[in-house]
Amino acid sequence: MLDTRPLLLTSDFPEIKRGKLTTLQVNLGYKCNLSCTHCHVAAGPTRTELMDKATVDLLLSYIDFHRIETLDLTGGAPEMNPHFRYLVTQARERGVTVIDRCNLTILLEPGYEDMAGFLASQGVEIVASLPCYLEENVDKQRGKGVYNDSIEALIRLNKLGYGVPGSGLMLNLVYNPGGASLPPPQGDLEQAYKKELASRFGITFNGLFTIANMPISRFGSVLLSKGQFDAYMQLLKSSYAEANLSTVMCLSLISIDWQGYVYDCDFNQMLDIPMSESNFTLTAESGVIATDNKKLHLSEIVQRDLTGRPIVVADHCYGCTAGQGSSCGGALG
Ligand code: SF4
Ligand code: SF4
Repeated sequence: MLDTRPLLLTSDFPEIKRGKLTTLQVNLGYKCNLSCTHCHVAAGPTRTELMDKATVDLLLSYIDFHRIETLDLTGGAPEMNPHFRYLVTQARERGVTVIDRCNLTILLEPGYEDMAGFLASQGVEIVASLPCYLEENVDKQRGKGVYNDSIEALIRLNKLGYGVPGSGLMLNLVYNPGGASLPPPQGDLEQAYKKELASRFGITFNGLFTIANMPISRFGSVLLSKGQFDAYMQLLKSSYAEANLSTVMCLSLISIDWQGYVYDCDFNQMLDIPMSESNFTLTAESGVIATDNKKLHLSEIVQRDLTGRPIVVADHCYGCTAGQGSSCGGALG
C-alpha cells in the first residue's frame, strides 16, 4: 500500500489548541466480521488485536476523573471485543452517552443475535456506515451481500425502536463519497436517503452524517496510485472554511487505540501521529508537528488536564475544514 504520511507532515494548517474534553473515541480492536477493501485498519475475522480488560478499566477511571460525557466506540467491529458489554454497561451506569460505530451486519452474525437487543436495553446510540442507499454501490465498497444484510439489520433495529420518533433510541447513518470529491450538502442527501429507504423498505433513521474522505490510509493509497493526490489536496485546501476551525472534533475529544495509546483524533491514530509527551516543534509556517514517536499512554494522563494543549496537525487536517466541514459526527457548524 502506498503511504501518504510523509507527504502530509509538513503543513501550513493553522495551530489549534484543545478545549474542554467531552468525548473519548476508543478503538476496541481490529477484529471484524467483514474485510472491506477500503478498511482503514485492515480489520477482519482473523485479526487478534483487541483491547484488554485492564485497559478497559483504565478508560473507566479516565471517564470518572474527567467526567467524560460521550464514549464513542470503534473498531474493527467493536461488538466483537469480549469486554464490549462490560464497558457499555459500566459507562451507561455512569450516565455516559455511548455511541457504537456498528457495521450493521455484525447484528446478524451467529453468537451476536441478541446484540441489537442489548444495545437497545442500554440506550446505546448507533452510528452505522451505509455508503449509499443503492445495493450495487454498497456491495462494491463493502463486499457482496453486505447491502442486503445491512437492510435486514436496519429493519431489526427499527423493530426495537431505533430511529423511530419518540423512542429515544438514536440511529444515525454515515455517508462518505466513493471518490476524490467532497460530500454533497448533508441535509439534501439525508432527505434522499430517508425517501429511498422509507419507500423501498419502510426503514426510518434519525440523521445522516456526511464525512469527507481523508487523504490517508487506503484512500490515500488509491489517490497516489491514480495520480490524484495533489489534486485532492488542492481541492481540500481551496475549500478551506475558517469557521470550521472552531468546531473540529479534536478540540473536544481524544482518541485511544486498542493498546491504550493516546492521539488527538482518530485520523492521527490511523496515521500513527501520536499525542506525545513534550516533543512538539512549533514552526512559523507549519503549526505543530510531533518530532518523535514516543507515544503517550492513557495510564500516563489519567489525572492530567489537557486543556490548552497544542493539537498535532498536518495536511490531512484540511479534510476536516473543507466546505461544510467534516467530523465523525458529520458536517460541522
Ligand atoms: S466493517 Fe468497518 S472495521 Fe470492519 S472491515 Fe469494514 S471498514 Fe473495516
Ligand atoms: S484531522 Fe481533524 S480532528 Fe484530527 S487533528 Fe486534524 S483537524 Fe483535528
